[in-house]
Amino acid sequence: MIYADNAATTKLDQEAFEAMKPYLLEEYGNASQPYSFSRKPKKATSEARAIIADCINAEPEEIFFTSGGTESDNWAIKGSAVSDSDNKAIITSQIEHPAVLNACKRLETLGYPVAYLPVDSEGLVAKSTLERFITDNTRLVSIMLANNEIGTIEPIRELAAVAHKHGSLFHTDAVQVVGHIPIDVKTIDVDMLSASAHKFNGPKGVGFLYIKKGTEIASILDGGAQEHGMRAGTENVAGIVGMAVALKNNCEKLNENAAHIISLEKKLITALDESGIDYVRNGAHHHSPGNISLSFGHADAEMLLHRLDLLGICVSTGSACDSKNTQLSHVLKAINLEEKYALGTIRISLGKDNTEECVKRITDAIVKILS
Ligand code: PLP
Repeated sequence: MIYADNAATTKLDQEAFEAMKPYLLEEYGNASQPYSFSRKPKKATSEARAIIADCINAEPEEIFFTSGGTESDNWAIKGSAVSDSDNKAIITSQIEHPAVLNACKRLETLGYPVAYLPVDSEGLVAKSTLERFITDNTRLVSIMLANNEIGTIEPIRELAAVAHKHGSLFHTDAVQVVGHIPIDVKTIDVDMLSASAHKFNGPKGVGFLYIKKGTEIASILDGGAQEHGMRAGTENVAGIVGMAVALKNNCEKLNENAAHIISLEKKLITALDESGIDYVRNGAHHHSPGNISLSFGHADAEMLLHRLDLLGICVSTGSACDSKNTQLSHVLKAINLEEKYALGTIRISLGKDNTEECVKRITDAIVKILS
């Protein structure tokens, strides 16, 4: 089997798995209890918080554990909207993940005005577009750091500066790139940033939301006083520990992994170019490593995906979260891709475990199927 769908999820880091095991089997105490049996889980949770904070240049008390990217996005958007009593406006982009888009749509039904910014043909949100839409009545701007379908990395620092000039909060969904590209929350100057462990070789069902100290945000999960009273629910200690180990390991090899993946990417593109197949690559030149969105002229992406599957190759059409939705992806619509290409779009997302041999087998298979 060749796994080339790393934007959908990644393989669990072996060391992360080993680090999790004791907290599932022996050290199963509730991290919020005061007795000594809970000391180790509590200590492990706070060490994990410090490791994660260090990886993105945040302070430990700015990291809040969640159940993953979807919860982090929902919290950032709904939590900042309801923390202001004036139903102020939200601005996001047309190419966000459904976790952001549907959270915004929910707020619209509750009376919050939402603007969905258009992007250019590479999926970029222009600073000038945000400047046109933003007003002093904008509560929050939420723009993703990198797109999950086409890999485009957005100019977050510039966009956050525009938001701050108008007194708005800025959130970024960085789920696709945490652990894959260097991220320094102080440099990009965001107020909130979402991440999900399973995208960087951590376990599924755990993630975090970075919330800059002093940011006014309400909690959206009501219950106990965990996470400084901001996110109720018993801590997923094993998941949190596994997430920290996976992130630390990825961050230590960030450049090495990215260089390997980019060299594979180049080989894949060269092989396709040499094959003479009619295709376009979607996304900006500045994209997340390994995210390769390819649109083949007059091809049927579903057919291609299933033929590749029969050959033991896992890729996706659009994003995994949209795979049940047979309509044309909202991202391809937003970049205005010609229909003859749009319907033949697949996403190959390479990861650190892929090899040159994998890339050769993928390109050989595509060329064979399409010719
Ligand atoms: N945001 C982006 C950009 C994603 O790619 C995903 C997952 O595909 C999510 C959010 C949701 O993350 P999770 O699967 O952890 O809920």
